[in-house]
Amino acid sequence: MNRILIVEDEERISSFVAKGLKAEGFTPTVVADGITGLDYALTGEFDLMVLDIGLPGLDGFTVLERVSAERPALPVIVLTARDSVTDTIAALEGGAADYMSKPFRFGELLARVRLRLRSPGDAAPDDEITVGDTRLDLRRRRAFVGDKEVELSAREFALAEVLMRNQGLVLSREQLLSQVWGYEFDPGSNVVDVYVGYLRKKRRRAVSTVRGLGYRVQ
Ligand code: CA
Repeated sequence: MNRILIVEDEERISSFVAKGLKAEGFTPTVVADGITGLDYALTGEFDLMVLDIGLPGLDGFTVLERVSAERPALPVIVLTARDSVTDTIAALEGGAADYMSKPFRFGELLARVRLRLRSPGDAAPDDEITVGDTRLDLRRRRAFVGDKEVELSAREFALAEVLMRNQGLVLSREQLLSQVWGYEFDPGSNVVDVYVGYLRKKRRRAVSTVRGLGYRVQ
């Protein structure tokens, strides 16, 4: 359950998604036009498809229509430009597909991929992550130290989640940027350091710096 077809003509997006999925243990295949995308989707060799709407050859809506008719069991996550979200939602009504508007964070896409690939018999997803006395309630997006709630912004929460999921591992700035902020961010940005600083203000010694490598939660 890990073969993912990515149909996207913008190379920076497809490579960002493919790299991220590979790092998470999936096997991604990238195609850049709608005709090839449809052919591949109908082979039955994929467990999920990530589908762009604006594509050369055949547009994403047409690909989706054919796939829904011929392979209704294939889960599809549609990528759409923010200004055409309304059209996209209308087009998806009644279908099995999910959508994400661009730009998106890799973490959001990953969560949707995992959700779509889970069969009904699988265990429920984690509702919370705990490291030491710090706990994140993933459904309600709330953070606690001991019994006390700590207010986190959406971005701070996302950063804390990635660090805590990878407890004990050193994550580089680039990894954190792509997981939490997405591809629209300049790799030279110091936004990761700034947000690690915010987390430290809320929880002393929350995150340690590994000089020259990145950050870690232990
Ligand atoms: Ca496109």
